[in-house]
Amino acid sequence: MEIGEEEFSIPFFKDNGFLRLRCPVCGSFYWTQNPDSRNCGDAPCQPYTFIGDPPTRARYSLDEMRDKFIGYFEAHGHTPISPYPIVARWREDVYLVGASIYNFQPYVTEGVVPPPANPLVISQPCIRLTDLDLVGPTNGRHLTIFEMGGAHAFNFPGREVYWKDETIRLHHELLTEGLGVRSEDVTYKEHFWSGGGNAGPDVEACISGLEISTLVFMKYKVEDGGLRELPIRTVDTGYGIERWTWLTQGSPSGFHPIYPEVIEEIAGEAGVKLDSRLIAESTRLSSTLNLERHEGRVEARRRLAELLNLDLRMVDEALSNMEAIYAVADHTKALAFILSEGVIPSNVEEGYLARLLARRTLRMLRRLDLGDEALLRIMELQIHRWGRTFTQLREMRSEILDALNVEAEKYRRTLKRGVEKLNRIIGQLREKGLGEMPMEVLTQLYDSHGLDPETVKELAPDIAVNPPEDFYSRIAQRHSTVKASPETVEERLKARVEGIKPTEILYYERPEIKKFKAKVLEVIDDVYVVLDRTAFYPEGGGQVADQGHLGYGDKHVRVVDVQRIGKVILHRLGDGDPSPPVGAEVVGEIDWERRLSLMRHHTATHILIGAARRLLGNHAWQAGARKEADRSRLDITHYRHLTPKEVALLEEMACNIVVQDIPVEASWMPREEAERLYGFRIYQGGAVPGKELRIIRIGEWDVEACGGTHCHSTGQVGLVKILGVEHPQDGVERLIFATGPQALRHIQEAYRILEELSGALGAPRDEMVQAVEALKEKEKALEKELSRYVKAASTRKVEELLGEAAEIDGVKLVAVDLGYIGEAEAMEISSQIARRNPYAVAILAFKEEGKGRGFGTARILVSAGEEAIRRGLNAGEVAKALAPYIRGGGGGRPYFGQAGGVDASGIPRALREAEGILREMMRG
Ligand SMILES: [Zn+2]
Ligand SMILES: [Zn+2]
Repeated sequence: MEIGEEEFSIPFFKDNGFLRLRCPVCGSFYWTQNPDSRNCGDAPCQPYTFIGDPPTRARYSLDEMRDKFIGYFEAHGHTPISPYPIVARWREDVYLVGASIYNFQPYVTEGVVPPPANPLVISQPCIRLTDLDLVGPTNGRHLTIFEMGGAHAFNFPGREVYWKDETIRLHHELLTEGLGVRSEDVTYKEHFWSGGGNAGPDVEACISGLEISTLVFMKYKVEDGGLRELPIRTVDTGYGIERWTWLTQGSPSGFHPIYPEVIEEIAGEAGVKLDSRLIAESTRLSSTLNLERHEGRVEARRRLAELLNLDLRMVDEALSNMEAIYAVADHTKALAFILSEGVIPSNVEEGYLARLLARRTLRMLRRLDLGDEALLRIMELQIHRWGRTFTQLREMRSEILDALNVEAEKYRRTLKRGVEKLNRIIGQLREKGLGEMPMEVLTQLYDSHGLDPETVKELAPDIAVNPPEDFYSRIAQRHSTVKASPETVEERLKARVEGIKPTEILYYERPEIKKFKAKVLEVIDDVYVVLDRTAFYPEGGGQVADQGHLGYGDKHVRVVDVQRIGKVILHRLGDGDPSPPVGAEVVGEIDWERRLSLMRHHTATHILIGAARRLLGNHAWQAGARKEADRSRLDITHYRHLTPKEVALLEEMACNIVVQDIPVEASWMPREEAERLYGFRIYQGGAVPGKELRIIRIGEWDVEACGGTHCHSTGQVGLVKILGVEHPQDGVERLIFATGPQALRHIQEAYRILEELSGALGAPRDEMVQAVEALKEKEKALEKELSRYVKAASTRKVEELLGEAAEIDGVKLVAVDLGYIGEAEAMEISSQIARRNPYAVAILAFKEEGKGRGFGTARILVSAGEEAIRRGLNAGEVAKALAPYIRGGGGGRPYFGQAGGVDASGIPRALREAEGILREMMRG
């Protein structure tokens, strides 16, 4: 992106004698007060010079730096704001918060909702997985979890807070006056930033080779690849709190100031000696080399060994260990935060990202020769450390540890199965003569079988495994953005409703309206009727649409579906029903039984999610719901399968809420107020657009933003019965349930079946289980007895058949049609013949019992004795040759083969031809 020079012609630079220079190494333009400056001040153009020699007056811990940053901006008129969650439930486009500005996109930055304060300051924990592969190798420049210091000013038209000049001045003063950095050591690099759908020019502040802040002047919205100017210009600063801390400490790596205790602990457990000098030199070198490529990392280690006059193998091992320790420290903190907000490791959405981190951590631990249990100990430490500031970590401690434990267990199982799968794949590759593992196979092995490229490499030493350097970053990238937005309405209708007056909605004010009068505004394609007002609920929020009728004149037409497009509601008529003319007065009538049932089911989902949260833990979120008239389903995130006892408890809790007859209150509320009052838990059903949210509150039990129709009070729901639990995907439990009369019908049906069973068994209900057990025992005994009889009968039959066998070139051929006989018995006879006489070949045809007579299922079994095989006979080949006579297929091994076909009338011919086939085969 070409940026105009004038974007950076800022009074602060001019007034303070900054010069605009061009970096001879990277070509960037940058601002500095030092006329002798030789480069832009950022690595790799400028190597780190702060390691062991910080440019600040004092050293700060991470907590102190956060306080310093917030205190400074508060003193300069900014209101401190508490951090937002790290899981971006209010957004449709991303899963995790990757920058403080995510908190305010899109509603605040686009002017839909006012900012919580203006200007404001926040230290926001952020997670980015885009550089996952570099976390470790760059010694702390890349982290997956970090705190972004955001000082934000929102400039509305005619209401300017501050813009570029003040932003840079505030930054510079904090560095120089606040921390004592020499003014001429700071450089500001010109740049253009884009993220989260917005863009604008920015400057990157660098000291001693470290970029510590990005000051963005957000003024564009990215649209269709172009830029549109926003009415609101936003100051979006990203102060890297961890990097600022590192700068003041000059520590050997960027991880040391963040995780002093955690690094000690992991190194101690793994028996790794921490060599500060080696680490510091490696960090210095890392700033000048491109470590994104494997060659860069190899080169770094070679130079380090040379520099310190050490054995390369020793350096290699020390750095590999350090990288693993860094990654474990970083990933476990990220996991603690993600899991504390109720994300369950799984194969989809944010759960996938959690799983990616958990598995990578487990692998790093293995590299350090540490078992999975080390993960839990390290996690305890992280929860303790970060829980001081972020209390949700401590509150969710047991859920975090439990979820991780389950995930480690799942990973072990997956790996075991994956190894079997991998062996098959390796076999296939060898057969095809492929010496290299294709990328899509590697991705699939990782995604579906938990096998990372390193493990694949170990297990398949003769196959080249060459994953791209950024394998994990690519995988994370594929799963990080663009939540799926289900497109239910035909795109084409959107254009058709343009210009039509918004439909007046009757179902919110008075959900009990069954019948209403309205006027026809428009009819589209003869099937979609638009009214000026309606009480028909359109499909949305997981609730299916109302059905009913429209009456006009003497006609009565069906409404089979209702959809909402923008602010216009379309009523779809039944096939062939005549549409009313535009302008006609109609009477709408809703199928009330159906709607009542939908309201009951819908209200029950709110009751059940409240119960799940209390029973299973705060991680239990709604992962999806579908409210239908007959039965509904509710998906809940949970890392274990529900036990029958838990299901019964959920039902009891729901029943308790029902009998308390708590009012279900609906109210419209500004988004920011709803978030402030109830927190982000209101987004159970996913992100909801708009300035005002419709909040549904069931006393203290549950509060959600929801656009559906509900009962007036919980008592109207009646009975809530969970009919079954399914597992649509890992980490999600699906409750199938029914309410009110529907629930009663299911229970009545279950009782009816019980009664019938009880009658058939001749046992009272409470003795039925024992009665069935007894039956099963009896059946087992009978089966045993039967098999003894079959054996005895078969033995007689075998004698008889061998006695009648024909002699063909030294082998004994038994070719016979056994008629209707069970498969087990036929098998027994066939194998006995070959065992009793090694020269025998048994060709036994039979028709399967109960599978149609005459032109029915025909089977041929072929067994060959050892000597017969030695003479060139192959039972599988014989079966294959005979199969066409019974119009089927066949095959097998030399000692046994079988054929099956649909034409039993071909059996005699097949048996006649057998002799010829045998002779042919023995001649070779
Ligand atoms: Zn440069
Ligand atoms: Zn609802």
